[in-house]
Amino acid sequence: MKVYSFPHGGILFDDPYAPSREGSVLSFLPWLVVIPFMQDNGNMSSPVVHSGEKVHEGMLIGEARGEDSVNLHSSIPGNVLRTVSWDIEDISSMISCQGLLIKLGGAFDKLGKVAKEQQWLGLSARELQHIISDYGIVEMEDSGRPLSAVIAPYEDLGPPLSLVVRCVFDDAWLVADYVLCKERLDELAEGAFIAAKMVKAEKIILAVSAPERKLGEEILAAMHRFLRENSIHGIAPLLVLVGSRYPQRHQRELEIVLRRFEKKEKEQFGPFIYMGPATICAVYDAVKYRKPILDRYLAVGGSALARPAVLKVRIGSRLKQVFEECGGFISNPKRIAIGSPFLGRAISSMDEPVMPYTSAVFAVADNDSILNSNPRVLSMRSMYRHTDLNSEKMPYASAVQCICCGECRTVCPVGLDPEKLYKKIVENEIDEKIKSLAMKCHGCGCCALVCPSFLPLSQCIVTVIPVTERDSPLNIQDQEEN
Ligand code: SF4
Ligand code: SF4
Repeated sequence: MKVYSFPHGGILFDDPYAPSREGSVLSFLPWLVVIPFMQDNGNMSSPVVHSGEKVHEGMLIGEARGEDSVNLHSSIPGNVLRTVSWDIEDISSMISCQGLLIKLGGAFDKLGKVAKEQQWLGLSARELQHIISDYGIVEMEDSGRPLSAVIAPYEDLGPPLSLVVRCVFDDAWLVADYVLCKERLDELAEGAFIAAKMVKAEKIILAVSAPERKLGEEILAAMHRFLRENSIHGIAPLLVLVGSRYPQRHQRELEIVLRRFEKKEKEQFGPFIYMGPATICAVYDAVKYRKPILDRYLAVGGSALARPAVLKVRIGSRLKQVFEECGGFISNPKRIAIGSPFLGRAISSMDEPVMPYTSAVFAVADNDSILNSNPRVLSMRSMYRHTDLNSEKMPYASAVQCICCGECRTVCPVGLDPEKLYKKIVENEIDEKIKSLAMKCHGCGCCALVCPSFLPLSQCIVTVIPVTERDSPLNIQDQEEN
C-alpha cells in the first residue's frame, strides 16, 4: 500500500520519555475538580449553579453563551465550593480563566452503570448537531473549540464533503490518541459514521500514519463490520496511509497528501472536514449514551516523572494529582508543560485542571533529557515569553547569532527561507513581499526546533500576519495544481 507524504521538510520527532503505548490506566477519582467556564480562548459559559449547591455526575453546570462557548457538565458528583481563577500563557498573550471548584461527594450516576443505548440511525443531521451542542462536545485534539462552531462553516458547502478521521501520530506525545484508538476501536468506527451523518459527509477517509498500518486496518475492518451489521450501503470508508514526519497531521500537510491520493486514485473528495479520534469518540458517547465529556485519555510523562503512563482521567482533575498518580517526581522538574515538549505551553500552577483538549502533560528534569539532548525546545519556548509583541522592534535574539547553516530551510514544509524572514523581521524591514511570504507560514515550529543558534524563528515569523489572515488550508489544492 502506497504511503503519501508531504513533499519536503518536516522532522522526525520521537521522545524516550513519552509514555508507553501499551494501554491506559484508569485514574483514581479526584476529590476536587476545577471545571473551567471557558474552552480554549472562546467565550465563557454562564454558570447555572452556585457555591454550596449539590451537583451530580454529568449535570449541566454552565450554559453556552454564543457560538464560541459550550454547555458545561460536572465530571463528578459533589458540592460546588467556589469560583476560582487562574491565568494561562498563550503564544502571545495571557488568558484569564475561571472555573468552578467542586468537591467530590455522593453517588456516581454514570460510572460503573450500564447506560441506555440510543438509536441514532433515524436521526437527521440537524438532530445530531443539537445533541452535540446540548452535551457540550468540543474538538478534543487541538483547539478545544465547540464542535458545532467547527462544523458550522461546512454547512453551506454542500456535497461532496469528506470526513477525515485523523489518526496521524507524527509526534511521540500523541500516544494518548493512539491508545484510545486501540481501546475504543468499535466506538471510533461507529462514531465516524455518526460524525459523517452529522456533517452530511459523503465519504469517510481514515488517515493513518504508515507505521500504524495494522491499527488502521483494524479500524477499517470495524467500520465495515458496522456497515454490514446495519445493512448500510453507499458509504465506503477509505484507508490512506500517510507519512509520520511532523507536521504531517497539520491540516495543510494532510490536505496535500489527501489531494495526491485523490488524484492518483481518481476519487472525488470535495472539501475536507477533520476530526481526531478523541472528538469522534466524544460524539459517539453523546449521541449513543447522552453522555457529556467526563473524562479523557491523557499522556503523562517526562524525564522528571517516576512512571510515565497514559491515564484515563476525569476532566477538571488537577495536574498535581495526575503527577502523583504517576509516582511523583524522581528529580526536580525544570519545566512542567501541557502538550508536547515540542509545542507545549508552560503550566501556570500545579492546580491547573485537565481540560477536554489536554492530551499530554510532561515534566522535564533539571539535569537531563530533552533539555540536554535538545536544549532548543526550552530555549524556543522561553524566548517568546519575554517578547513584547507590541514593541516597534522585535526584542528577539540578535540575528547575528545565525551561523548560516541552512538547517531551517531544509525542514520548512512550505519551502520558505526562515533565516531570511527572521532577519528581515528582526530588522523591522517588513515590506509586502515579506508579508506575503510570512502569510504562507503556518507556525509548525520545525525551523526553530532545528536551529543550532536557538533562534525563535517560527515564533517571530507568525507574528507578522494575524492567524485570521493567513492562507487557508482549503486553498491548498489550487496552489498545488498551479
Ligand atoms: S514555522 Fe513557518 S517558516 Fe518555520 S518551518 Fe514551519 S512553516 Fe516554515
Ligand atoms: S537554522 Fe538558525 S543558524 Fe541555521 S541558517 Fe537557519 S537561522 Fe541561521
